[in-house]
Amino acid sequence: ELHNIIQELKGNIRVFCRVRPALSASDVALQSAENKITLEHLTETYNFNFDRVFEPLATQEAIFDEVSGLVQSALDGYKVCIFAYGQTGSGKTFTMQGEPGVASGGRGLIPRCLSKILQCSEAMRAAGWEWTLKVSFLEVYNEVLRDLLDSEGHNLVHVIKHDEAYGTMVTNVTSVEVKQMDHIQRLMEKAAKARAVGSTEMNATSSRSHSIFAMYLHGVNRELNCELTGALHLVDLAGSERLEKSGSTGDRLKETQNINKSLSSLADVFMAKAEGRSHIPFRNSKLTHLMEPCLNGQGKTLMVVNVGPEAEHAHESLCSLRFASQVS
Ligand code: ADP
Ligand code: MG
Repeated sequence: ELHNIIQELKGNIRVFCRVRPALSASDVALQSAENKITLEHLTETYNFNFDRVFEPLATQEAIFDEVSGLVQSALDGYKVCIFAYGQTGSGKTFTMQGEPGVASGGRGLIPRCLSKILQCSEAMRAAGWEWTLKVSFLEVYNEVLRDLLDSEGHNLVHVIKHDEAYGTMVTNVTSVEVKQMDHIQRLMEKAAKARAVGSTEMNATSSRSHSIFAMYLHGVNRELNCELTGALHLVDLAGSERLEKSGSTGDRLKETQNINKSLSSLADVFMAKAEGRSHIPFRNSKLTHLMEPCLNGQGKTLMVVNVGPEAEHAHESLCSLRFASQVS
């Protein structure tokens, strides 16, 4: 009962922390336990608590198990968002997309959530529900929205609009109806290619852009004369590493500031919510504007903070953990 009351008070935002395994035999500065992280940095010890902590050996399945309730929420008509936050190399893409076929890997949250939605929506058919599921892939790069399924290269201008059914919608974006997992898989591959093609430098864009996978769910039940519209956003955020480190100048500097703009606007939104302010500054960035329906009181948000355990990343990990502990 107490647990429920605490959940109530915390509202609609939950924070998980995932620690990836050490990638080399370097010094480890971070220890994890059930819902606690201890980090050593420059003679100081820092402690953090989260709703859940996933230790380095936690499986993709274990994380999905904790998340699958949100998938059901999207089918109940909620606007739901899952963010992966952390410095480049901390495991965001591993968490969201996964690395099927790799021994330590397996499918990440995106394919697992989607196949669960396909399954559940199919199962609801017996109770008279007919679902239409549509997906879009977007990228926010330099505060500009890009359609990752735009194979014709239209490069249309995209604007975020309020939408009665889904909360927000983006204009001119390719939206594809899906019924089967292998179709979704193909679309994911197409989007991954579009991201790669757009990068100016090898392996660059993906760490500096936010990728957003969106599913729009529309359910109709004629017997009950009932209709539901939910949305699920799965967001692989840009690397959270700070500007100073990359020694940015000129265009790159502007770009980094814009990336930070979406990330810092996200932090501002969380802060304003945590402080219970009446005005929440959703409209300061593309990311927060688009996610407003998930971040406001009616939606549901999960932040997965990814950190590496190595001493060499302790400073960045500390920044990420501090960010995350402000969230709820
Ligand atoms: P990011 O997207 O945050 O830049 P990645 O997801 O690409 O980071 O992960 C960086 C590297 O760490 C990749 O080689 C990935 O395979 C590995 N990695 C990340 N998380 C895990 C994990 N939980 N288990 C095993 N390897 C992981
Ligand atoms: Mg990545």
